[in-house]
Amino acid sequence: MALLPFYIPRQRRIKVVIVGGGYAGMAALTTLKQYSSDIDIMLIDPDDKHLKVTHLHETFRYPLSDLQLPFNVLETRFNCRHIQSVLAVTDELLQQCQENRYLAVGDEIIEFDYLIITTGADKQQSEATENVITLQHFMQTAGSELLLERLSRLEQDELFISVVGAGATGIQFLFEIRQFLSRKKIAARLRLIYTGGRVLAQFPQGFDTYVQSCLRDLKIECVSNSRYRRQTDHQIQLENQQTGEVYELPSQLTCLFLGKRQENLLSANLFGQVVVDQKTLQNIFAAGDCAVFRSLGSNVQSAQSAVRKGKLIARNILRHSGFLKVLEPYLHHDIGYVVNLGPSDAVGWLVSEGNIVTGIPALAVKELVEAQYDLLLKGIDTYVV
Ligand SMILES: Cc1cc2nc3c(=O)[nH]c(=O)nc-3n(C[C@H](O)[C@H](O)[C@H](O)COP(=O)(O)OP(=O)(O)OC[C@H]3O[C@@H](n4cnc5c(N)ncnc54)[C@H](O)[C@@H]3O)c2cc1C
Repeated sequence: MALLPFYIPRQRRIKVVIVGGGYAGMAALTTLKQYSSDIDIMLIDPDDKHLKVTHLHETFRYPLSDLQLPFNVLETRFNCRHIQSVLAVTDELLQQCQENRYLAVGDEIIEFDYLIITTGADKQQSEATENVITLQHFMQTAGSELLLERLSRLEQDELFISVVGAGATGIQFLFEIRQFLSRKKIAARLRLIYTGGRVLAQFPQGFDTYVQSCLRDLKIECVSNSRYRRQTDHQIQLENQQTGEVYELPSQLTCLFLGKRQENLLSANLFGQVVVDQKTLQNIFAAGDCAVFRSLGSNVQSAQSAVRKGKLIARNILRHSGFLKVLEPYLHHDIGYVVNLGPSDAVGWLVSEGNIVTGIPALAVKELVEAQYDLLLKGIDTYVV
């Protein structure tokens, strides 16, 4: 058992319930097990497997099953229990949980000492129609299969596919789709539609410059400053953000990547304890995309921050359950972010946002980060903090 500074355990087992089996939930689970054997962990997630979603765009090349890790495998590996259920997390529920220390899930009453909320951020919803594919579809079916199936329903000679959203997810899918169409010799034209004037707007300007040159090389049409309204049988309807004009372009299929909603996020103090109505709930912790920590650390909605928050709250739960109760503040800042541009190119920053890397070095960094997470899921922690 690894040694955790400032953790002197008491003589009793503690019970922890983790709601949400994504990156933050997995980091909390593995960290709790790393430092304590005297612990019962229950994981609640509506799915039956963990999804390594940061690879999702790669399902144009690899089977979806490569990214899935069944929760029953994790149950055995980490000696925990998974309940397949969804929990409606509200402020009232969390306050009740702090007071009563139990949860009703289905017909079971689950008692706990600590509750962890890691349910991720809500995805922006839009009307799903036959010729609109969203991130939720890609989570169920591999990209290659999904695209071929949707294209097989279309009978047009000249096909237009629109990709909406130029955040990291939209861009990663766009380049994979381009490569996939080329590999399959499908003569469809690709178009990228986005609000604002640049792609990957949350990253340094150099990202936009590099991606725009790749888009030109690959003859992908760009439509900026445009808001998606809907996709009909043969047209995509857009609204010009500057003039308000509504107009249509030819398009038979739209892939929508509208990003995450910034609503319903939980507020947490610098140790990860949830704060409701300005009151700290001592036994309720949150981490990942669903939680905004009031601290100097990064609240970027990334897998890296989710893992660091998940690991931190696990350490703090153990310390809180022990004698000393000295908790550790959240101070993590991401040390890089890499966006894939198809199988053989990428753009990212490393160490500082001014240090932009592209091509093979960027791909190598990404591989390293993903490999580190894979090891964590095997119970091998190589993170420095
Ligand atoms: C295609 C794609 C590529 C990405 N690439 C990168 C990348 O390269 N680098 C990076 O840092 N980040 C990347 N991200 C972002 C990253 O994946 C997220 O920031 C990260 O997954 C957040 O982790 P999380 O644990 O907070 O939430 P999630 O990983 O979203 O997990 C939430 C979990 O909670 C469960 N859940 C949800 N609601 C409930 C409920 N009510 N009750 C019970 N369970 C619930 C869900 O089923 C899910 O298992 C990418 C995202 C996508 C979609």
